Amino acid sequence: MKIHEYQAKELLAAAGAAVPRGILATTPAAAQQAFDQLGGGPVVLKAQIHAGGRGKGRFLLQARGPGGEERWSDFGGVKYVRTRDEVAQVAEVMFRYPLVTKQTGPEGQRVSKVLVQEAADIAREIYAAVVVDRALGLPVLMACAEGGVEIEEVAARSPEKILKAALNPDVGLLPCQARRLVYDLDFTPEQAPKAEALLTALCRVFLDKDCSLAEINPLVVTPRGEVLALDAKMTFDDNALFRHPEIEALRDLAEENPAEVRAAKAGLTYISLPGNIGCVVNGAGLAMSTMDIIKYHGGEPANFLDVGGGVTAEGAIEAFRIILADPRVKGVLVNIFGGIAKCDLIAEALVQAGREVGFRVPVVVRLEGTNVERAREILAAARSELPTMQTAVDMADAARKVVAAAAA
Ligand code: GDP
Ligand code: MG
Repeated sequence: MKIHEYQAKELLAAAGAAVPRGILATTPAAAQQAFDQLGGGPVVLKAQIHAGGRGKGRFLLQARGPGGEERWSDFGGVKYVRTRDEVAQVAEVMFRYPLVTKQTGPEGQRVSKVLVQEAADIAREIYAAVVVDRALGLPVLMACAEGGVEIEEVAARSPEKILKAALNPDVGLLPCQARRLVYDLDFTPEQAPKAEALLTALCRVFLDKDCSLAEINPLVVTPRGEVLALDAKMTFDDNALFRHPEIEALRDLAEENPAEVRAAKAGLTYISLPGNIGCVVNGAGLAMSTMDIIKYHGGEPANFLDVGGGVTAEGAIEAFRIILADPRVKGVLVNIFGGIAKCDLIAEALVQAGREVGFRVPVVVRLEGTNVERAREILAAARSELPTMQTAVDMADAARKVVAAAAA
């Protein structure tokens, strides 16, 4: 689960990090009021969306159409603003048009909240983040003196510039680790304690809240020697959310994929993907190998879907509704191993789903396991009723059939 920048900064501040003063606004008028409350000095208007790269993004003022060419704003989702009038002008655009960044996709993302933040003067920009290092099996604090820019570029160009400290999850960042990093990053003796406090707070939040990512980019030093978290980004481990109702409360469903939200409500594990072959599978391992075999035969999965071991008729019907609601889906592969839920039960659920939802595209079914003979009879009996449904003898046969059907 992701949260907004302003929420991540609140968590950091609560853990003792220094963040710039900021006020959240949901209208241009409120943004002007916030500007006044912050002292009428320069502010930065920051569009709150879950996608990153806002600074370099642009607002799509007019999409390409028969009426004319595309038009774009000349500023992005992070805009330095000096006057009250300019606050209103910029906020009007932010609340009205979709923001397109590298991470939003070409249609962009609507903005409903704008953080009005006291502008900071920047002497240095540094990168800091905590991630889980799978090779070490530990959380690792990464820091780099080249902040503000895309860290992936630095990692590719000069990986030695990324400094690392592995964290003991029970104690967090040790003072000696913090000091080492801060001196390697060339903070002055006056700035060092402030930088140490900021890095320690970042690690504290990551560990206490079960994050999978906690990033400050940029972490800045101002000309007066203040050390501040200018931007913040956090992702949480969904499997640990039950321990953190206060984090779950920060969820913004408007930012999430609607199909994924709907699937989660039905107890399905669903992840939307860019292909055109829908997958209905029980078990995460079988779902992974189903996606592999679709790709092996030249197709592209439209989703990962695990309906779970104890798949029910309701679950299967909702799964089909979600998959078939996606206009890109040109074929569906049902790959079920009847174990806890027996094949005949699943076949009946499938037929019922077909009746209720209507299979508008070819549906290829591969069933194996307990009571498979009985299941085949049920599917055969429903053939005339569900003409787009085909059966397959094994996984390879199913994959070939669905890839051919989706390409037709
Ligand atoms: P992102 O593009 O979504 O990562 O948004 P950021 O909050 O990181 O802002 C992008 C860039 O805008 C930063 O790297 C800074 O260079 C600049 N920026 C953000 N806030 C301020 C500020 O208060 N003052 C100045 N001078 N620049 C800022
Ligand atoms: Mg940033």
